[in-house]
Amino acid sequence: MIGGVNHLGIAVRDLEKSMALFQQIFRVEKFHRETVADQKVDIASFKAGEVLIELTAPTDADSPIAKFIEKRGEGIHHVAFTTEGINDELQHLAASGVQLINPTAQKGAHDMMIAFLHPKSTNGVLMELCELPKKA
Ligand code: ZN
Repeated sequence: MIGGVNHLGIAVRDLEKSMALFQQIFRVEKFHRETVADQKVDIASFKAGEVLIELTAPTDADSPIAKFIEKRGEGIHHVAFTTEGINDELQHLAASGVQLINPTAQKGAHDMMIAFLHPKSTNGVLMELCELPKKA
């Protein structure tokens, strides 16, 4: 089941510069910092109301984010939706003809399990499904 917006991913070249900028705009007191090795990205995130904003910079030239910036410049990279039963949902979407980038969920930031849908299938919007970690 796909629910509300969990976060917006913004592709940036320089994380430090971007953090300074968003700190000014949103008066951010503290960023959550994380490196996601699987995705080859450094993330700084903060809450804008209910929605997390993830500033995402590449750690490597062959990171998907580096390729995105090269092709389209900095900007909104993806919209992520909180999803329950993410692998069941992916199966359901694949069966209904939606093209998936990740056929099964992978480890993302904030201990979430994540998967991307192919923008070819979703009107050009890169959508991410993310399942929150089960509270112990
Ligand atoms: Zn994301």
